[in-house]
Amino acid sequence: MRHIARLLFLVVAFCTAMVFADERRITVAVSLQPYATLVKMVGGDYVNVVTLLPPGADPHNFEPKPAVIKAFSLAQVYFSDGSGLDKIWMPRFLGANKNVQVIDISKNIEWMKAEHDDHHHGSVHHHDEDEIDPHIWTSPTRVKFLAQNIYHALKTLDPKHEIYYVNRITETQNRLVQMERMMNEAIFDMPRNRRSFIVFHPSYGYLAKDFKLKQYTIEVNGKEPKPRDLANLIKMGRKNGVKAVFVQPEFSKRAAETIAKDLNAVVVETDPLSADFLGNTQKFLNALIEASKK
Ligand SMILES: [Zn+2]
Repeated sequence: MRHIARLLFLVVAFCTAMVFADERRITVAVSLQPYATLVKMVGGDYVNVVTLLPPGADPHNFEPKPAVIKAFSLAQVYFSDGSGLDKIWMPRFLGANKNVQVIDISKNIEWMKAEHDDHHHGSVHHHDEDEIDPHIWTSPTRVKFLAQNIYHALKTLDPKHEIYYVNRITETQNRLVQMERMMNEAIFDMPRNRRSFIVFHPSYGYLAKDFKLKQYTIEVNGKEPKPRDLANLIKMGRKNGVKAVFVQPEFSKRAAETIAKDLNAVVVETDPLSADFLGNTQKFLNALIEASKK
C-alpha cells in the first residue's frame, strides 16, 4: 500500500511538473514554416509554436484543416506578417480564438508590390494593384527585421526571460549578418551578365532586390504562361545571361524545363516554404553561383 501511495505521489508530481513546464511557455501561432523556425530560433525553450500551414501546402490555395484551427484556438499570440495572405486567413482563425493577441512582426520592413510581369509579357492583367509581395523571409536582410520584432514581442510577453531572449536574438542576428556578408561577397564574385534568374513563382523578389540580382517570373497572374509569354521570357533570358531556372514543389515544372532547354540553363528545385528557410536561401545561392560558371 505504501508503495502504491508513493507511486501515485510520483505520478502526480510528474504530471504537475509537465503542466508547469508547459505553462512557462508562450504558445505562439504563425502562418508559415519559415516563421515557425525563426520564432524557435529567438524563443528557444520558452515558446510552443503552432504553424497554420503544414509542410508542402500551397499558401495561395489554402484550406485549414479542423485540427489546425483547434491548435490555433489554444494560441496565446499570433505573430502576423501583415501580408495579404494573412488578411485572407485571419478572419477564419480569429473566429476560433477570440482571446489571441495579434502582433505584427513586419514592422520596419519595406514591402514591395507583387510582380506584375508586364515588362516582359506585354499584356494587360487583372491584378490587384495594391497587392504586396509576401515572400519577405527569403532575404536574410528582411529576416533581420522579422527576428528583431519577434524578440521585442517575446520579451514584452515574457519579461522574466529577457536575458535568455537577448542571448538568442544576438546569436540569430549574428548568423543573419554573417549570411548577408557571405552572400554579398559571393554575388560580387559572379560575372555581371550572370546575375539574373528565372523562377516559376516569384518567391525571391526581396532576395533579388537586396542582393542586386534580377528575377524574371514564369507564371502569369498565378497561371501557366501562354506560348507567346514563354517566347518573350526566353528572349529576355538570353539577353540577360540566365543560366538557372528555379521551380518549387507546389508548382508545375513543365514551362521551366522548356525555357531551360532553350537557354542551355539548369532547372533547380528549391523550397522557399521549407522550415529550413535559411538553408533554402543558401541552396538557391549555391545553384545560382554554380550555373553562372556555364
Ligand atoms: Zn508565394
